[in-house]
Amino acid sequence: MGFFRRKTNNLTPIQWRITKRCLDLIFESSKSNFPQEFGALLRVDRVNKNTIVEVVLLPGTISGDSHAIFHLHMLPVDYSVVGTVHSHPSAIALPSKADLDLFSHFGRIHIIVGVSPFGGVTWKAYDYKGQEVLLQVV
Ligand SMILES: [Zn+2]
Repeated sequence: MGFFRRKTNNLTPIQWRITKRCLDLIFESSKSNFPQEFGALLRVDRVNKNTIVEVVLLPGTISGDSHAIFHLHMLPVDYSVVGTVHSHPSAIALPSKADLDLFSHFGRIHIIVGVSPFGGVTWKAYDYKGQEVLLQVV
């Protein structure tokens, strides 16, 4: 088993990117939904498959004050959809237990936006294990 584990660790991590336009849209949606949560899917460019260019609103996604806002059975089989984004009504962009459960079941990259009551936003990106990953804004 050690052999396989070592091999996995040697894989080059994917360098994820997001367009500034897309990130700005996420911030605006998160702020306008405050104090409720905003949730959507992340879609990558068809050519640059590591670059997130679009958010897709999921039918049945509800804005609410629960973190479990995604209905897993509603998630599409669409390989241009790489993960999720949702907001928290707090300045802390850390995944909850429900978030970690979602991350482990769907997608490869997930963004959490923390919206403070004073209007500022913070954000972080995570992989399927809930480990923070670098997401470059382009
Ligand atoms: Zn959450």
